[in-house]
Amino acid sequence: MRLLVIEDDKDINRQIVAALEHAGYAVDHALDGEEGYFLGDTEPYDAVVLDIGLPKKDGITILEAWRANGRMMPVLILTARDRWSEKVQGFDAGADDYLAKPFHMEELLARIRALLRRATGHATNELVCGSVRLDTKSGRVIVDGAPIKLTSHEYRLLAYLMHHSGRIVSRTEIIEHLYDQDFDRDSNTIEVFVGRLRRKLGVDLIQTVRGLGYMAAPPVETTDGKR
Ligand code: CA
Repeated sequence: MRLLVIEDDKDINRQIVAALEHAGYAVDHALDGEEGYFLGDTEPYDAVVLDIGLPKKDGITILEAWRANGRMMPVLILTARDRWSEKVQGFDAGADDYLAKPFHMEELLARIRALLRRATGHATNELVCGSVRLDTKSGRVIVDGAPIKLTSHEYRLLAYLMHHSGRIVSRTEIIEHLYDQDFDRDSNTIEVFVGRLRRKLGVDLIQTVRGLGYMAAPPVETTDGKR
């Protein structure tokens, strides 16, 4: 899952980005409203953290413009404490959630998990597909009851596929949602990652849909137990 953080306070921006990256997300960031608006309007983010008070373009204006352009990604706005009117304005501009500053990073992370859950149609932090369980809170992956160790890129790939289980995901979509904008995407082929991930999981979870992409789905068993 790939996120965007737009916040002009450098320290807060850095802290949020660090916490989100630590939690396993690919993260882009912007320090002013113009760059932030542009990124959110042109890149496919899974969720955005958006400050309201920003240089060059304020958060409400950005959000209204994204929504007018049909941008549907979940947006959590950061508001000043006790400014109830900012919250109302924000929700009416198309926000999905808000957090008043100062806030605890754990709460921001929990709210992001909730937004991603809702946007992808899941009810809990634990994504289950066949014998594979992925906990988006702890970052743990369990296969047939045993924990599996994954690299951060393998985890991101599996988390993206499992958030969208049962749906075909193209290679382009995977690349767009796994890497931040500064990452050298050419040097890593998705096929290689999928191959490694399959070997580590050791179960038939990631199906190749020829010419279209990949899909996380438990193997279909026929009534006589054969596939
Ligand atoms: Ca600000």
